[in-house]
Amino acid sequence: MVITNSYFTDNAKILAKYNEVELYDRSRLYNLLEAQNTNEMFNKSVCPKCGADLVIRNGKYGYFYGCESYPKCSFTKNIEGSNNNHNVK
Ligand SMILES: [Zn+2]
Repeated sequence: MVITNSYFTDNAKILAKYNEVELYDRSRLYNLLEAQNTNEMFNKSVCPKCGADLVIRNGKYGYFYGCESYPKCSFTKNIEGSNNNHNVK
């Protein structure tokens, strides 16, 4: 896998194809990082109490993480950066 902070020339792309090298240019890299961040924020959280997945729930005060095995486990966590006093549509 080859990562660049700019863009690849056509020659580089052809060369990479021949060598079966994955090219990550700037825009692809950003997409990748963005996808990972999103995963981390919304999908990849695990309950520290019981190890089940955390899921997004929408409560009285906005969105928060709740344990998937609720009501067996009542762990909740604020979503960082979200404004829980604000009603999100
Ligand atoms: Zn739990």
